[in-house]
Amino acid sequence: MARYTGPVCRLCRTEQKKLCLKGDRCKSDKCPINKKRGAPGKDPKARTGKKSEYGVQLREKQKMKRIYGMLEKQFHLTFEHAQRMPGVTGDNLICLLESRLDNVVFRMHFASSRTQARQLVLHGHILVNGKSVNIPSYEVRPGDVVEVKENSKKLTVILDALKEVSKSGVMPWINLDVDAQKGVYTAKPRRVEVIDLADIKEQLVVELYSK
Ligand code: SF4
Repeated sequence: MARYTGPVCRLCRTEQKKLCLKGDRCKSDKCPINKKRGAPGKDPKARTGKKSEYGVQLREKQKMKRIYGMLEKQFHLTFEHAQRMPGVTGDNLICLLESRLDNVVFRMHFASSRTQARQLVLHGHILVNGKSVNIPSYEVRPGDVVEVKENSKKLTVILDALKEVSKSGVMPWINLDVDAQKGVYTAKPRRVEVIDLADIKEQLVVELYSK
């Protein structure tokens, strides 16, 4: 499946926001955003100047899409799915994005970034309800058990990523057994619970796609 393969820090610099696409590096001093590097391009101010209403909505959509590592077509399909669901479309969109298998693997700290989580899924290191699933966009449902395959439990990337549990804990909708490298996706997350994306304005994305 197609994915963005360019320099990811450039995406953060474009948005002038830490999108945390590189795992541990994002928390280090090496992060270009921490170094206050401006937007890429010959005229960085052109990107940070006053934007039209459309421009603001577009940037918010790009931010969301990039955080979850998706391309336009897939993101738009997810939005249409959210629109068909009962309830608030923006909340549904976040909920659908959070229930993607690559995101759940990241939230369970089996990977230090969503990109790394996607790789683990694609390479067959992850089981859902005891069966191997290698589709990053697979929709995890409440009650599903997600775990690392027995043969993959000693992978350094997974062991390193799991160290983060003691520092940042786990999201409230996830029940994690660190030693067993196994977690339960207990419920669909409520919007207010997705605290690390509290500053994302999904309503702007809804407005953009509703034009
Ligand atoms: Fe973004 Fe992480 Fe790169 Fe910093 S290190 S610019 S947060 S991807």
